[in-house]
Amino acid sequence: MITSNVIELIGNTPLIKLKYPSEVSGCEIYGKGEFMNPGGSVKDRTALGIILDAEKKKLIEPGGTVVEGTFGNTGIGLALVCNAKKYNLKVVMPNTTVESKRDILKNMGAELHLVDAKPYADPGNYQRVSKKLALDIENKTGKKTFWAGQFENLANYKYHELTTAKEIFDQTNGTVDGFTCAIGTGGTITGVSVGLKSLNKKIIIGCTDSQGSSMYNYFTNGTPEKKGDESITEGIGQARVTKNLENCEVDKSFYVTDKECMEMLYKLIKTDGLFLGLSSGVNVCGAIKLAKEMGPGKKIVTILCDDANKYYDKMFNKDFLQSKNLPIPDWL
Ligand code: PMP
Repeated sequence: MITSNVIELIGNTPLIKLKYPSEVSGCEIYGKGEFMNPGGSVKDRTALGIILDAEKKKLIEPGGTVVEGTFGNTGIGLALVCNAKKYNLKVVMPNTTVESKRDILKNMGAELHLVDAKPYADPGNYQRVSKKLALDIENKTGKKTFWAGQFENLANYKYHELTTAKEIFDQTNGTVDGFTCAIGTGGTITGVSVGLKSLNKKIIIGCTDSQGSSMYNYFTNGTPEKKGDESITEGIGQARVTKNLENCEVDKSFYVTDKECMEMLYKLIKTDGLFLGLSSGVNVCGAIKLAKEMGPGKKIVTILCDDANKYYDKMFNKDFLQSKNLPIPDWL
Protein backbone atom coordinates (compact mmCIF):
# COMPACT_ATOMS: atom_id res chain seq x y z
CA MET A 1 0.00 0.00 0.00
CA ILE A 2 1.23 3.47 -0.93
CA THR A 3 -0.40 6.62 0.38
CA SER A 4 0.37 10.28 -0.19
CA ASN A 5 -1.21 11.60 2.99
CA VAL A 6 -1.47 10.29 6.57
CA ILE A 7 -5.12 11.38 6.64
CA GLU A 8 -5.96 8.66 4.12
CA LEU A 9 -4.90 6.11 6.74
CA ILE A 10 -7.71 7.09 9.11
CA GLY A 11 -10.51 4.52 9.25
CA ASN A 12 -10.95 1.28 7.30
CA THR A 13 -9.59 -0.55 10.33
CA PRO A 14 -9.75 -4.36 10.48
CA LEU A 15 -12.37 -6.31 12.39
CA ILE A 16 -10.48 -8.66 14.72
CA LYS A 17 -12.10 -11.87 15.99
CA LEU A 18 -11.54 -12.03 19.74
CA LYS A 19 -10.62 -15.58 20.70
CA TYR A 20 -11.10 -15.68 24.46
CA PRO A 21 -14.28 -13.54 24.53
CA SER A 22 -15.82 -15.69 21.76
CA GLU A 23 -14.93 -18.92 23.61
CA VAL A 24 -16.43 -17.84 26.94
CA SER A 25 -19.61 -16.46 25.40
CA GLY A 26 -20.36 -19.02 22.68
CA CYS A 27 -20.75 -16.11 20.24
CA GLU A 28 -18.48 -14.60 17.62
CA ILE A 29 -17.11 -11.46 19.21
CA TYR A 30 -15.18 -9.00 17.06
CA GLY A 31 -13.25 -5.87 17.96
CA LYS A 32 -12.87 -3.01 15.51
CA GLY A 33 -9.12 -2.33 15.53
CA GLU A 34 -9.28 1.41 16.05
CA PHE A 35 -5.88 1.37 17.79
CA MET A 36 -4.51 0.90 14.25
CA ASN A 37 -5.47 4.42 13.19
CA PRO A 38 -2.39 6.62 12.55
CA GLY A 39 -2.93 8.64 15.77
CA GLY A 40 -3.48 5.39 17.66
CA SER A 41 -7.15 5.74 18.53
CA VAL A 42 -10.78 5.81 17.46
CA LYS A 43 -10.69 9.58 17.94
CA ASP A 44 -8.76 10.12 14.70
CA ARG A 45 -12.14 9.65 13.02
CA THR A 46 -13.78 12.32 15.19
CA ALA A 47 -10.93 14.73 14.53
CA LEU A 48 -11.09 14.22 10.77
CA GLY A 49 -14.91 14.32 10.64
CA ILE A 50 -15.03 17.59 12.57
CA ILE A 51 -12.30 19.28 10.50
CA LEU A 52 -13.83 18.16 7.16
CA ASP A 53 -17.21 19.51 8.27
CA ALA A 54 -15.68 22.83 9.42
CA GLU A 55 -13.89 23.19 6.08
CA LYS A 56 -17.13 22.54 4.22
CA LYS A 57 -18.94 25.15 6.33
CA LYS A 58 -16.01 27.58 5.95
CA LEU A 59 -15.50 27.77 9.71
CA ILE A 60 -11.69 27.48 9.38
CA GLU A 61 -9.43 29.66 7.27
CA PRO A 62 -6.21 28.37 5.64
CA GLY A 63 -3.47 28.52 8.27
CA GLY A 64 -6.13 29.16 10.93
CA THR A 65 -6.35 28.01 14.53
CA VAL A 66 -8.29 25.08 15.98
CA VAL A 67 -9.03 24.87 19.73
CA GLU A 68 -10.35 21.83 21.58
CA GLY A 69 -10.91 20.47 25.07
CA THR A 70 -9.88 16.82 25.19
CA PHE A 71 -8.88 13.94 27.42
CA GLY A 72 -6.06 13.35 24.94
CA ASN A 73 -6.98 11.11 22.06
CA THR A 74 -9.07 13.69 20.17
CA GLY A 75 -6.18 16.10 20.70
CA ILE A 76 -3.74 13.61 19.18
CA GLY A 77 -6.10 13.00 16.24
CA LEU A 78 -6.53 16.73 15.75
CA ALA A 79 -2.77 17.29 15.99
CA LEU A 80 -2.10 14.94 13.11
CA VAL A 81 -4.99 16.23 10.98
CA CYS A 82 -4.11 19.89 11.72
CA ASN A 83 -0.40 19.34 11.02
CA ALA A 84 -1.20 17.59 7.74
CA LYS A 85 -3.57 20.42 6.76
CA LYS A 86 -1.41 23.26 8.15
CA TYR A 87 -3.69 24.51 10.92
CA ASN A 88 -2.48 25.54 14.40
CA LEU A 89 -3.81 23.57 17.35
CA LYS A 90 -4.41 24.58 20.95
CA VAL A 91 -5.58 21.93 23.37
CA VAL A 92 -7.10 22.23 26.86
CA MET A 93 -6.75 19.07 28.95
CA PRO A 94 -7.61 18.07 32.52
CA ASN A 95 -4.47 17.40 34.60
CA THR A 96 -5.79 13.95 35.59
CA THR A 97 -4.85 12.41 32.22
CA VAL A 98 -1.77 10.21 32.01
CA GLU A 99 1.43 12.15 31.32
CA SER A 100 2.19 10.20 28.17
CA LYS A 101 -0.79 11.76 26.35
CA ARG A 102 0.41 15.26 27.29
CA ASP A 103 3.91 14.41 26.04
CA ILE A 104 2.58 13.16 22.70
CA LEU A 105 0.60 16.36 22.18
CA LYS A 106 3.54 18.59 23.11
CA ASN A 107 5.89 16.60 20.91
CA MET A 108 3.47 16.90 18.00
CA GLY A 109 3.69 20.68 18.39
CA ALA A 110 0.24 21.40 19.84
CA GLU A 111 -0.06 24.19 22.42
CA LEU A 112 -1.16 22.53 25.66
CA HIS A 113 -3.21 24.16 28.44
CA LEU A 114 -3.61 21.99 31.56
CA VAL A 115 -6.50 22.68 33.93
CA ASP A 116 -7.74 21.10 37.16
CA ALA A 117 -10.41 18.44 36.66
CA LYS A 118 -13.79 20.12 37.33
CA PRO A 119 -17.38 18.99 36.72
CA TYR A 120 -19.05 20.20 33.52
CA ALA A 121 -21.20 22.73 35.39
CA ASP A 122 -18.05 24.52 36.65
CA PRO A 123 -16.72 27.36 34.40
CA GLY A 124 -13.24 25.87 34.96
CA ASN A 125 -14.21 22.59 33.27
CA TYR A 126 -11.78 21.83 30.41
CA GLN A 127 -14.52 21.84 27.76
CA ARG A 128 -15.78 25.27 28.86
CA VAL A 129 -12.24 26.66 29.17
CA SER A 130 -11.48 25.53 25.60
CA LYS A 131 -14.61 27.23 24.22
CA LYS A 132 -13.71 30.46 26.01
CA LEU A 133 -10.12 30.24 24.79
CA ALA A 134 -11.32 30.03 21.17
CA LEU A 135 -13.56 33.09 21.67
CA ASP A 136 -10.80 35.06 23.41
CA ILE A 137 -8.33 34.34 20.59
CA GLU A 138 -10.89 35.33 17.97
CA ASN A 139 -11.67 38.60 19.81
CA LYS A 140 -8.00 39.40 20.32
CA THR A 141 -6.73 38.58 16.84
CA GLY A 142 -9.86 39.33 14.81
CA LYS A 143 -9.19 36.04 12.99
CA LYS A 144 -11.67 33.19 12.71
CA THR A 145 -10.81 30.60 15.39
CA PHE A 146 -12.50 27.21 15.23
CA TRP A 147 -13.66 25.50 18.42
CA ALA A 148 -14.00 21.80 17.58
CA GLY A 149 -16.48 21.10 20.44
CA GLN A 150 -16.50 17.31 20.04
CA PHE A 151 -19.21 16.77 22.71
CA GLU A 152 -21.79 19.01 21.05
CA ASN A 153 -20.57 19.06 17.44
CA LEU A 154 -22.75 16.58 15.53
CA ALA A 155 -20.07 16.14 12.85
CA ASN A 156 -18.55 13.76 15.44
CA TYR A 157 -21.33 11.15 15.34
CA LYS A 158 -22.08 11.73 11.67
CA TYR A 159 -18.57 10.69 10.67
CA HIS A 160 -18.98 7.45 12.66
CA GLU A 161 -22.32 6.88 10.95
CA LEU A 162 -20.69 7.42 7.57
CA THR A 163 -17.56 5.35 8.19
CA THR A 164 -17.46 3.13 11.33
CA ALA A 165 -21.04 1.84 11.05
CA LYS A 166 -20.75 1.16 7.33
CA GLU A 167 -17.41 -0.62 7.73
CA ILE A 168 -18.82 -2.88 10.48
CA PHE A 169 -21.84 -3.76 8.34
CA ASP A 170 -19.76 -4.45 5.23
CA GLN A 171 -17.02 -6.37 7.08
CA THR A 172 -19.63 -8.74 8.53
CA ASN A 173 -21.47 -8.97 5.19
CA GLY A 174 -24.48 -7.52 6.96
CA THR A 175 -24.62 -10.39 9.49
CA VAL A 176 -23.78 -8.38 12.63
CA ASP A 177 -26.40 -9.05 15.38
CA GLY A 178 -25.26 -6.70 18.10
CA PHE A 179 -22.94 -3.79 18.83
CA THR A 180 -21.85 -2.27 22.10
CA CYS A 181 -19.34 0.30 23.35
CA ALA A 182 -18.72 2.78 26.14
CA ILE A 183 -19.47 6.49 26.00
CA GLY A 184 -17.22 9.53 26.16
CA THR A 185 -18.69 12.17 23.88
CA GLY A 186 -21.17 9.58 22.61
CA GLY A 187 -19.96 10.09 19.03
CA THR A 188 -19.05 6.46 18.44
CA ILE A 189 -22.15 4.81 19.92
CA THR A 190 -24.51 7.34 18.34
CA GLY A 191 -22.95 7.16 14.88
CA VAL A 192 -22.70 3.38 14.89
CA SER A 193 -26.22 2.92 16.30
CA VAL A 194 -27.83 5.30 13.79
CA GLY A 195 -25.80 3.82 10.92
CA LEU A 196 -26.41 0.15 11.75
CA LYS A 197 -30.11 0.62 12.56
CA SER A 198 -30.64 2.39 9.23
CA LEU A 199 -29.21 -0.70 7.50
CA ASN A 200 -31.01 -3.26 9.68
CA LYS A 201 -33.40 -2.21 12.47
CA LYS A 202 -32.99 -5.60 14.20
CA ILE A 203 -29.34 -5.03 15.16
CA ILE A 204 -29.23 -4.67 18.95
CA ILE A 205 -27.25 -1.74 20.36
CA GLY A 206 -25.88 -1.87 23.90
CA CYS A 207 -24.39 0.92 25.95
CA THR A 208 -21.54 -0.40 28.07
CA ASP A 209 -20.94 1.96 30.96
CA SER A 210 -17.84 2.14 33.12
CA GLN A 211 -18.06 2.61 36.88
CA GLY A 212 -18.55 6.22 38.05
CA SER A 213 -20.49 7.07 34.89
CA SER A 214 -24.17 7.97 34.58
CA MET A 215 -25.11 6.38 31.27
CA TYR A 216 -26.13 2.95 32.61
CA ASN A 217 -28.84 4.62 34.66
CA TYR A 218 -29.76 7.00 31.84
CA PHE A 219 -30.41 4.20 29.36
CA THR A 220 -32.03 1.99 32.01
CA ASN A 221 -34.40 4.40 33.75
CA GLY A 222 -34.09 7.72 31.89
CA THR A 223 -32.09 9.60 34.52
CA PRO A 224 -28.34 10.21 34.15
CA GLU A 225 -27.29 9.21 37.65
CA LYS A 226 -23.77 8.19 38.68
CA LYS A 227 -23.25 4.48 39.39
CA GLY A 228 -20.25 3.27 41.38
CA ASP A 229 -16.94 4.89 42.32
CA GLU A 230 -14.82 7.02 39.96
CA SER A 231 -13.12 4.89 37.30
CA ILE A 232 -9.41 4.78 36.41
CA THR A 233 -10.35 4.46 32.73
CA GLU A 234 -9.84 7.48 30.46
CA GLY A 235 -11.90 9.00 27.66
CA ILE A 236 -15.09 7.26 28.75
CA GLY A 237 -17.71 7.90 31.42
CA GLN A 238 -20.30 10.60 31.01
CA ALA A 239 -22.49 12.46 33.50
CA ARG A 240 -24.78 14.26 31.06
CA VAL A 241 -26.65 13.75 27.81
CA THR A 242 -24.37 15.44 25.26
CA LYS A 243 -25.80 16.78 21.98
CA ASN A 244 -24.25 13.80 20.20
CA LEU A 245 -26.05 11.41 22.56
CA GLU A 246 -29.46 12.96 21.90
CA ASN A 247 -29.59 11.02 18.63
CA CYS A 248 -28.41 7.69 20.05
CA GLU A 249 -30.45 4.50 19.56
CA VAL A 250 -29.74 2.19 22.51
CA ASP A 251 -31.67 -1.02 23.34
CA LYS A 252 -29.75 -2.31 26.37
CA SER A 253 -27.31 -1.14 28.98
CA PHE A 254 -24.43 -2.92 30.70
CA TYR A 255 -22.23 -1.96 33.64
CA VAL A 256 -18.55 -2.85 33.93
CA THR A 257 -16.32 -2.31 36.98
CA ASP A 258 -12.62 -1.37 36.78
CA LYS A 259 -11.80 -4.80 38.26
CA GLU A 260 -13.61 -6.61 35.42
CA CYS A 261 -12.00 -4.27 32.88
CA MET A 262 -8.43 -4.81 34.12
CA GLU A 263 -8.86 -8.60 34.40
CA MET A 264 -10.02 -8.63 30.76
CA LEU A 265 -7.16 -6.44 29.52
CA TYR A 266 -4.49 -8.66 31.16
CA LYS A 267 -6.26 -11.79 29.90
CA LEU A 268 -6.38 -10.49 26.30
CA ILE A 269 -2.64 -9.80 26.32
CA LYS A 270 -2.00 -13.51 26.88
CA THR A 271 -4.94 -15.17 25.09
CA ASP A 272 -5.24 -12.94 22.02
CA GLY A 273 -1.92 -11.10 21.85
CA LEU A 274 -3.82 -7.82 22.08
CA PHE A 275 -2.19 -5.00 24.05
CA LEU A 276 -5.22 -2.78 24.55
CA GLY A 277 -5.94 0.47 26.39
CA LEU A 278 -8.28 0.96 29.33
CA SER A 279 -11.59 1.68 27.57
CA SER A 280 -11.18 -1.37 25.31
CA GLY A 281 -11.34 -3.57 28.44
CA VAL A 282 -14.71 -2.08 29.34
CA ASN A 283 -15.92 -2.55 25.77
CA VAL A 284 -14.90 -6.22 25.53
CA CYS A 285 -16.52 -6.99 28.91
CA GLY A 286 -19.68 -5.32 27.61
CA ALA A 287 -19.56 -7.35 24.40
CA ILE A 288 -19.43 -10.59 26.44
CA LYS A 289 -22.40 -9.42 28.54
CA LEU A 290 -24.39 -8.58 25.39
CA ALA A 291 -23.41 -11.93 23.84
CA LYS A 292 -24.55 -13.86 26.91
CA GLU A 293 -27.87 -12.03 26.87
CA MET A 294 -28.46 -12.57 23.14
CA GLY A 295 -27.57 -16.26 23.27
CA PRO A 296 -25.06 -18.50 21.46
CA GLY A 297 -24.10 -18.14 17.81
CA LYS A 298 -24.62 -14.39 17.54
CA LYS A 299 -22.14 -11.98 15.96
CA ILE A 300 -21.25 -9.11 18.29
CA VAL A 301 -18.96 -6.17 17.51
CA THR A 302 -17.25 -3.71 19.84
CA ILE A 303 -14.53 -1.07 19.59
CA LEU A 304 -10.84 -1.54 20.46
CA CYS A 305 -10.37 2.19 21.04
CA ASP A 306 -6.60 2.47 21.59
CA ASP A 307 -3.64 0.45 22.83
CA ALA A 308 -1.91 0.06 26.20
CA ASN A 309 1.20 2.10 25.39
CA LYS A 310 -0.18 5.37 26.81
CA TYR A 311 -1.37 3.79 30.05
CA TYR A 312 1.77 2.23 31.60
CA ASP A 313 1.45 4.57 34.62
CA LYS A 314 -1.82 2.88 35.46
CA MET A 315 -1.92 -0.56 33.84
CA PHE A 316 1.60 -1.70 34.73
CA ASN A 317 2.22 0.26 37.92
CA LYS A 318 2.02 -2.15 40.89
CA ASP A 319 1.70 0.58 43.54
CA PHE A 320 -1.08 2.30 41.64
CA LEU A 321 -2.99 -0.95 41.06
CA GLN A 322 -2.60 -1.94 44.72
CA SER A 323 -3.83 1.49 45.89
CA LYS A 324 -6.98 1.00 43.81
CA ASN A 325 -7.47 -2.62 44.88
CA LEU A 326 -7.18 -3.76 41.30
CA PRO A 327 -5.75 -7.05 40.01
CA ILE A 328 -2.04 -7.16 39.19
CA PRO A 329 -0.89 -9.24 36.22
CA ASP A 330 1.24 -12.17 37.39
CA TRP A 331 4.15 -11.17 35.14
CA LEU A 332 4.57 -7.74 36.83
N1 PMP B 1 -12.02 5.29 24.43
C1 PMP B 1 -11.04 6.21 24.42
C2 PMP B 1 -9.65 5.75 24.76
C3 PMP B 1 -11.32 7.54 24.12
O1 PMP B 1 -10.33 8.46 24.11
C4 PMP B 1 -12.66 7.92 23.84
C5 PMP B 1 -12.99 9.33 23.50
N2 PMP B 1 -13.05 10.22 24.57
C6 PMP B 1 -13.66 6.93 23.88
C7 PMP B 1 -13.30 5.63 24.16
C8 PMP B 1 -15.12 7.27 23.71
O2 PMP B 1 -15.50 7.58 22.42
P1 PMP B 1 -16.68 8.63 22.13
O3 PMP B 1 -16.15 9.99 22.49
O4 PMP B 1 -16.92 8.49 20.68
O5 PMP B 1 -17.85 8.28 22.97
